[in-house]
Amino acid sequence: MSNNIADRLSSAYHQLQEFMQQQQINRSVCLIAVSKTKPLAAIEAAYLAGQRNFGENYVQELQLKATSASHLPQIRWHFIGPIQSNKTRDIALYASEVHSVERAKIAQRLSDARPAHLPPLGVYIQVNISAEPTKAGCLPDEVMPLAQFISQLPRLELRGLMAIPTPARDGDNSASFAAMAALSSTLQQQFPAATALSMGMSDDWQTALCHGATAIRLGTAIFGTRDTQQHE
Ligand SMILES: *Cc1c(COP(=O)(O)O)cnc(C)c1O
Repeated sequence: MSNNIADRLSSAYHQLQEFMQQQQINRSVCLIAVSKTKPLAAIEAAYLAGQRNFGENYVQELQLKATSASHLPQIRWHFIGPIQSNKTRDIALYASEVHSVERAKIAQRLSDARPAHLPPLGVYIQVNISAEPTKAGCLPDEVMPLAQFISQLPRLELRGLMAIPTPARDGDNSASFAAMAALSSTLQQQFPAATALSMGMSDDWQTALCHGATAIRLGTAIFGTRDTQQHE
């Protein structure tokens, strides 16, 4: 398994570098290895191969893995899943960045719970860019007021925006990514430091990069297919 993961990881970074060169993308891009449902051994294998940023969707899994990974000192956990208000404490304790903040109450609780000995928690506002009633994220109109609220919380640092577009019928998510890019530039007019744009997964990271993504979240491409009976 470990060789397999190291190979996939090196191939993903290689493809990323080639694509960025070809598209003349010069900004730095963070590749987050989404390890949800995968065992600690898979994370260790990726860490050993040089990977430092990992994404998790489920609070209990984050807590378990973070406490078992104390021998991997440079690991950085990104929480990318839905947040219930009674789970904010563990997220504030273990994550470096949270990509899925969609309302003020959650932001407040994360700030309150962020331990004083840790740096401020990096926060992305998740946007329901396809404005579907069943999807996570705030509506595009709600982004500026929420950003305003987050910016005055002492233990949070607003990084930018995140989206998981509903896959377009023709498989091309360009329209959603372009809408996110526009929203991001509006956000940056008022919050110049909030430059991050977390979008793109194993199937659409190239398109996301063409529309300004600064962080891509790859699960399947790094760790292989997930056992869908678990969690999903
Ligand atoms: C599972 C997940 C990913 C990774 O998806 P893949 O298609 O396996 O790359 C990325 N982002 C979020 C929010 C996820 O839940």
